[in-house]
Amino acid sequence: MEDVSSVNPNPLPLVFEQKRGRAKPPRHLADLTAEERTAAAEALGEPAFRVKQVANHYYGRLERDPANMTDLPAASRDRIVAELLPTLLNPIRTMEADKGATVKNLWKLFDGALVESVLMRYSERATICVSSQAGCGMACPFCATGQGGLQRNMSTAEIVDQVVDAAGKMARGEVAGGPGRLSNVVFMGMGEPMANYKAVIGAVRRMVAPAPDGLGMSARNITVSTVGLVPRMKQLADEGIPVTLALSLHAPDDELRNELVPINTRWSVHEAVEAAWEYAQKTKRRVSIEYAMIKDINDQAWRADLLGDVLQSYGDWGWVHVNLIPLNPTPGSMWTASRPEDEREFVRRLVAKGIPTTVRDTRGSDIDGACGQLAAVEV
Ligand code: SAH
Repeated sequence: MEDVSSVNPNPLPLVFEQKRGRAKPPRHLADLTAEERTAAAEALGEPAFRVKQVANHYYGRLERDPANMTDLPAASRDRIVAELLPTLLNPIRTMEADKGATVKNLWKLFDGALVESVLMRYSERATICVSSQAGCGMACPFCATGQGGLQRNMSTAEIVDQVVDAAGKMARGEVAGGPGRLSNVVFMGMGEPMANYKAVIGAVRRMVAPAPDGLGMSARNITVSTVGLVPRMKQLADEGIPVTLALSLHAPDDELRNELVPINTRWSVHEAVEAAWEYAQKTKRRVSIEYAMIKDINDQAWRADLLGDVLQSYGDWGWVHVNLIPLNPTPGSMWTASRPEDEREFVRRLVAKGIPTTVRDTRGSDIDGACGQLAAVEV
C-alpha cells in the first residue's frame, strides 16, 4: 500500500510532528462496531442494552446530554455517557451568513487541533460539509487548507460527531428556517478523505446504518470528494456503499494539473478519470468532476474542449457531470475567479459535448466558509 498521507514538500512544524505521536482521541460510541459495543458494555460493567440505549439517544434522538437520558439509571448516567460519548468537538466560534442559513463552526479537538464544518440549508435540502483531517497534506496551491500542511487524521467519531451536531441543530430548529432534517453530507471540508480512508469509511457506515446503529442516511446523499487517490477510489467502489464520488480534477491535462493538484504526479489525469469512470460503472452512481474556475489559468475554451473530450472518451451514457466552482479567494493567492464570459463559454462547450454541467454557488464565501477557504485559525 502506498503512503499517500502527505505530499506537502514543506516539513511540518515540530509541534505537529509531536502531536502525531500522541494519544488518540478518546474512544467514542461512534468509533465502535456493533460487536465492539457489546465489549464496551462489558468493560463498563453494564448490560449490553445500556449501550443500545445510549446509541438510541445519540443516533436516533441526536441527544448528547446525559441529563436528557432519563431512561438510564440516574446513579450511573453521567459515568456511562462520559465513557461512551466523550466531548470530541469543543465549539470555539460560530459564524453565520445568508441570514443564518449558512453556519460555519470552528471546533477544537482534544489535542488542540482546529477543524471546521459548514452547514448549508437550502429550500429542499440541508447539507453539512465535514472535515476529515486537521489540515491537509495534498498541498493544492489554490486551497487555503492545503497551505497549512497536515496535522493529523481525524477519528471516525470526530467525523460522525460533526454530522450529529448538524442534524441535532436542524432537528431542534436552531438553524434559520425552523426545524428540519439534515439530508446531505459532503466530505469537502478540511482534509483529503481518501488519505484517511479507514476512519472515513467507518464514518460513512455509521451515517448509513439505520438507528440505533447509525443515522439512517441515504448513501447517495453522501459525497466523498478526492484529489484522485486512485487505489482508494478503487477500494471505495468495492465497499458496496454507493456514496456519490467527486473527483477534484481542475485541469484536463497533466502539465497544468501537476501544478494545481500536486498528487497528479503520482496518479495522472487519465488514471484518476479512469478510476472515476470505473466507480460509476460499478456503483451506477454518476460521478462529479469538480473544477475550480481560475482566471486565465484553467478556464480557456480549449481546455473546456479537452475536458469534454477526456470525459467523453469513456462513453456518453451520463456517467459524469461537471461541477464548476468559481474560485474562492484565499490569503496570499494571486489567482482569482474566472470572468463571467469565460465561465459561460466553458459551460457552453461542455454542454455542447453532451456533458451535464453546473456552476456551484459560493455559499459561505463571506465567512471564509466556501470551498478551499477553511483554514481553521483562532482569532
Ligand atoms: N481534499 C478533497 C476534499 C476537500 S475540498 C478534494 O480536494 O476533493 C472540496 C473542493 O473544493 C475540492 O474540489 C477542492 O479542489 C475545491 N477547492 C479548494 N480550494 C478552492 C478554492 N479556493 N476555490 C474553489 N474551490 C476550491
